[in-house]
Amino acid sequence: MPSQRDDCLFCSIAREGAYVNKTKGFVAINDINPKAKVHILIIPERHVDTFRDVAEFPAKEAKRMLEFAAETARDAGLNDYRVLVNVGRSAGQTVFHLHWHVLGGEESADDVPPALATAEADE
Ligand code: AMP
Ligand code: ZN
Repeated sequence: MPSQRDDCLFCSIAREGAYVNKTKGFVAINDINPKAKVHILIIPERHVDTFRDVAEFPAKEAKRMLEFAAETARDAGLNDYRVLVNVGRSAGQTVFHLHWHVLGGEESADDVPPALATAEADE
């Protein structure tokens, strides 16, 4: 078992949470306060405080984490979705155990967030 913290919410969820998906070293759970129709969190068992420390993951494990996010989204029936990580308190991070948000379930062109819609229009 990789490094864990006794006082960390996501370390305990990774050990014994109610998963929607699981693979070696990673779990996926539904966000308790969803910001989209589907809002899943990808949580590694390995405790690192933030994405800044992602280099602590061995290369194979980092690859598996991304593949697991894509697999979990696919298994949840998502084709179009967002994957995001809040890095640091002022960027919106509230839980200091690295996790990826998978947000989707609103697959209509009208639902494209304005910033992304502008970027696509500029292409
Ligand atoms: P962040 O703000 O990027 O650190 O994301 C933390 C996320 O964890 C938020 O979207 C919360 O709603 C979610 N969250 C907090 N506690 C729990 C919990 N016990 N189970 C599931 N999701 C949680
Ligand atoms: Zn932790």
